[in-house]
Amino acid sequence: MDGVPRLPDGEPAPASGELPDDALARLGDGPFGIYLHVPFCAVRCGYCDFNTYTLTELGPGASTADFAGTALAELDLARRVLGDAAPVVDTVFVGGGTPTLLPAPDLVRLLDGVRDRFGLASDAEVSTEANPDSVTPRASRCWPRAASRG
Ligand code: SF4
Repeated sequence: MDGVPRLPDGEPAPASGELPDDALARLGDGPFGIYLHVPFCAVRCGYCDFNTYTLTELGPGASTADFAGTALAELDLARRVLGDAAPVVDTVFVGGGTPTLLPAPDLVRLLDGVRDRFGLASDAEVSTEANPDSVTPRASRCWPRAASRG
């Protein structure tokens, strides 16, 4: 290893988000879960291998305030790529990072974004990682309400 970052072997994912035909053909064969990665942490822990950053590391232009809009644009892309054959979502997991660093309404926007684009099963499992230091009373009230909306 010379310390130079390298792409893994294989074809890089196309910028269009396009999937191979055989992957699209298997759509609906199993449960459909969505993972939303929130890459922000208040501090970086030395033992952690997750893809996370502090706002100071990311520098100007990175903002927790802008994140929900960017993630919703990614959901738009996923919806376009998967098309009308996309099944209803069975699980939504918001991980990180520290998702509870996002404003509580933005976590709700993300969940509503999944529901609006794909539908959410009535018995869907919806969960988020959380740091107790950043869970506000408002977040603890509005997240369960948003998760149980029909
Ligand atoms: S994801 Fe958790 S363990 Fe990793 S840097 Fe953030 S707070 Fe630390």
